[in-house]
Amino acid sequence: MTEAVRVRFCPSPTGDPHVGMLRTALFNWAYARHTGGTFVFRIEDTDAARDSQESYDALLHSLRWLGLDWDEGPEVGGDYGPYRQSERGDIYRDVIAKLDEAGYTYPCFCTTEELAERREIARKEGRNSGYDGHCRDLTPEEAEAYRAEGRPSVTRFRMPDQDWTWDDLVRGEVTFGAEHVPDFVLVRANGDPLYTLVNPTDDALMGITHVLRGEDLLSSTPRQLALHGALARIGVGSGEMPKFGHLPYVMGEGNKKLSKRDPEASFSHYEKAGFLPEGLANYLALLGWSPGNDVEFFSLLQMADAFEISNVNANPARFDIKKCTAINGDWIRTLDADDLTTRIVPYLTDAGVLPAPPAEDQLKVLRAAVPLISERMETLSQAVGMVGFLFADEPGCPRFELDPDDAAKLLDDQGIATLEAARSSLESLESWTTEDIEFALRRALIDGLGLKPRVAFGPVRVAITGRRVSPPLFESMELLGRERSLARLASATA
Ligand code: GLU
Ligand code: ZN
Repeated sequence: MTEAVRVRFCPSPTGDPHVGMLRTALFNWAYARHTGGTFVFRIEDTDAARDSQESYDALLHSLRWLGLDWDEGPEVGGDYGPYRQSERGDIYRDVIAKLDEAGYTYPCFCTTEELAERREIARKEGRNSGYDGHCRDLTPEEAEAYRAEGRPSVTRFRMPDQDWTWDDLVRGEVTFGAEHVPDFVLVRANGDPLYTLVNPTDDALMGITHVLRGEDLLSSTPRQLALHGALARIGVGSGEMPKFGHLPYVMGEGNKKLSKRDPEASFSHYEKAGFLPEGLANYLALLGWSPGNDVEFFSLLQMADAFEISNVNANPARFDIKKCTAINGDWIRTLDADDLTTRIVPYLTDAGVLPAPPAEDQLKVLRAAVPLISERMETLSQAVGMVGFLFADEPGCPRFELDPDDAAKLLDDQGIATLEAARSSLESLESWTTEDIEFALRRALIDGLGLKPRVAFGPVRVAITGRRVSPPLFESMELLGRERSLARLASATA
């Protein structure tokens, strides 16, 4: 029998969640769902100076927004809690005491300056510049003498002297030579446990079977393998070594690693800009994985269905915001008009184009306008510029305004003459329908004035919608209604 899969997503709550992090969450989730395993969400908040509640809230929100659920973790609970490391201090103290007792650690009294000085010398002499093992074999008397000096000490892990090789689930065999993995610090001088201790400790205690995480953590893996070995021998956790898989780097513009500073790197950008969870999740999945056969459009469930770690690509993935946006547009076009209307409303109310909450008849107009704009939309927030004219001048909405550049270009003398002809042809129109409006305008402007369609309808479009680019004109006029349409044609000529 193969053991049940347990994977984890374990971010530190610092700053705004970034897309690389969410990609990691997504791949872990997909693997858990694919295998019928367990997705554990753990918060690595052991750095009180950097962690924030705001960031913690944003993390939970971003996962939920994307549509990722977790089986164990914050607000859900589980048998291996608590799931916030800030609440696990006693556990770490206990583990460190056991490691000390079994001889896996030693106190290191070197000061930062001493370490830096020796590192510099080693570098100059072309030697390895990692920790040199200075305190590894201090005699009890030497250690006592340092203590008597009042020197604080950190706790270092005694690395076994060996090379480290593992079969990475994504990258295949990876080896680090012993010389690249010096003894490392587990506990600060003030007693605070570090990532180096708490992360593998919790993976062991929480029965994590597969560690899927970003390639930036590759070099920490040898240390974690060694610590897992020690934990197994002192009876912490099941003793099973988790398998490791390192997801490819995500590159931004200019083939540099996508950094926290890039605006596209932050999750909140996508929600603000009106990406759909479905669209962003779809694109994040493509950062290192695809279901094969050139399929690039799929849902979370389809991803979970098809996801195999062995299909994760080890090569760096390029974050292509254009492609991400285009996929989002494709997702927008899968939504029916009611759904899309509901999703657009918050963007319109946030932008002040509609009052919050909108009136019933405003929703009706929006619902009717949505099929006219969905073809041209790639993000929900684009609706603001497309439908604002339908509600302008209504109570709680902004005043109607012409785009000054578009008006200057199109409402010249000929444009004004066109608007006057348009208005007189429409004033007598019996029924205000798209077809009748189009018929009347064609007869007046194309047959009557002899204009080409583009020249004829451009000024009308600007007068009605305020812009040169808008949803289809005749439909828009029907939605806007006779009175307001005629009033806009009139005021544009005034
Ligand atoms: N808290 C670590 C980080 O955010 C987790 C690393 C890991 O997945 O092991 O980088
Ligand atoms: Zn030392």
